Amino acid sequence: MKLIDSHAHLDLLKDAPGALGRAQQAGVVHILTIGVDLASSQRAAQFSRHLPQVSCSVGLHPHEAAAAGPELWAELKRLALTAPAVAIGECGLDFYRDLSPRARQREAFQRQVELALELGLPLVVHDRQAHEEVLAILQRQGAARVGGVLHCFSGGPDLAREVLTLGFHLGVTGVITYKQAEVLRQVVREAPLERLLIETDCPYLTPAPLRGKPNEPAYLLHTLEALALALGRPAVEVAAATTASARRLFGLPPLED
Ligand SMILES: [Zn+2]
Repeated sequence: MKLIDSHAHLDLLKDAPGALGRAQQAGVVHILTIGVDLASSQRAAQFSRHLPQVSCSVGLHPHEAAAAGPELWAELKRLALTAPAVAIGECGLDFYRDLSPRARQREAFQRQVELALELGLPLVVHDRQAHEEVLAILQRQGAARVGGVLHCFSGGPDLAREVLTLGFHLGVTGVITYKQAEVLRQVVREAPLERLLIETDCPYLTPAPLRGKPNEPAYLLHTLEALALALGRPAVEVAAATTASARRLFGLPPLED
């Protein structure tokens, strides 16, 4: 099986080279590493420049939205073009932790949707307890034209339907391995398989059997297996579908056999 980790923070891993080696052995053939501010976007770009199996996104996380200004937007755009990035984000709204004022979060999110549209890149969206507003911004700005993923999808079936109607994908993390994730299992069962992506969000959200350890791309297999179990489909089929979808959405190079 060949898996793609569609959302990792490689720059936050203690031993990224070791983790990359273990990922390869575990069949994780490609990794999208994500920027959350200018410095981490630059680190993500470095990974993608040096490693053929890594691509990057550049963006500003809602937690960091207060740092936004004209210079930062100019730098992020330049980086997106030169890296080159395959997506814009992670961007969005986080009304759970509210680490930046909501007005600044909205402004930063809208600015990044504009950037994605301008550059023709898909969006990696972070939504925590801000479902209606995230959806409204994506709809209003015509984000369907570039598409993207609601990473670590945490909404219910109603939001999932709206997101799918918009042409977006649902990102499934190790959360699906948790006992209490019944709503998520219901959501994935109702979604078309080709709109599901798997991701680690490492070093966060370690799958159940390994909880307590920092997460890394090699652990993606646990998420795949839990997703396959929830769907009642063979893991190989779910692996092939999620890998094909990630390649299509992010325009990744074809896999070598
Ligand atoms: Zn993330």
